[in-house]
Amino acid sequence: MSQLRLDLKIISSIILVSTIYFAHAQDSPQPMKMKSAMTELWEPIPAVVTPGLPDVTGSTKAPSDAIVLFGDTDLSAWQNKEGHAAEWSVHDGVFTVNKGKGDIFSKQSFEDFQLHIEWMVPQGITGEGQRRGNSGIFLQNMYEVQVVDSYENLTYVNGQAGSIYKQTPPLKNAMRPPGDWNVFDIIYTAPRFKENGSLIVPAYVTVIHNGVIIQNHTQITGHTPNTGLPKYKPHGPGPIRLQDHGDPSEAISFRNIWIREM
Ligand code: MG
Repeated sequence: MSQLRLDLKIISSIILVSTIYFAHAQDSPQPMKMKSAMTELWEPIPAVVTPGLPDVTGSTKAPSDAIVLFGDTDLSAWQNKEGHAAEWSVHDGVFTVNKGKGDIFSKQSFEDFQLHIEWMVPQGITGEGQRRGNSGIFLQNMYEVQVVDSYENLTYVNGQAGSIYKQTPPLKNAMRPPGDWNVFDIIYTAPRFKENGSLIVPAYVTVIHNGVIIQNHTQITGHTPNTGLPKYKPHGPGPIRLQDHGDPSEAISFRNIWIREM
């Protein structure tokens, strides 16, 4: 059941309880005494989900209702810009940006979701600022949550790891050092547009980095270009895009990617 339908059901239950209460109050000289059970909701019953367990490395596996976008060997949920097989290199249960092969896109498109994704800056990385382990996670192919080495590596704050690129810096720097895995848990609600293309509601995003909240229901103000100001262009569901930034430095790796539609 969608969040909207769930909210409507809860609101209608509250209206029903209130109506009974006030109708009774109007007929009686004394307001009806509230009982504990009058504010209990018994349906709809939330669906059961079996949570994923952490493995020996602390990587939390997908819950039972998630779509696995990468487990440990299979990159078939991803494609390149032309719609052909993604050519990033899969090895040792992870995959690594293959510089020059371009961004990769999930084959499936999404609207509102919870995304779990793990990424690692290679040990011994070189380069500075934005040219040090730069990649990115584009939500609906439009809005970049920045991936870059922000462990003792200075850059503009709305371009460091976990920023909404060129918009909102992260609240904290929860970066692990090169060679250790970072985890992003991203909760995203898509923007909504009228039929004429005008914006009704902007996108919002919450990002938890290694257990630390770094974006708290942050309003996204438009797309995230390197040069220029953010703007909204109307769109429907879109894929997750991972960036091949083409830095001279060593490339970022990813593992254990799963998504839950909301
Ligand atoms: Mg980037």
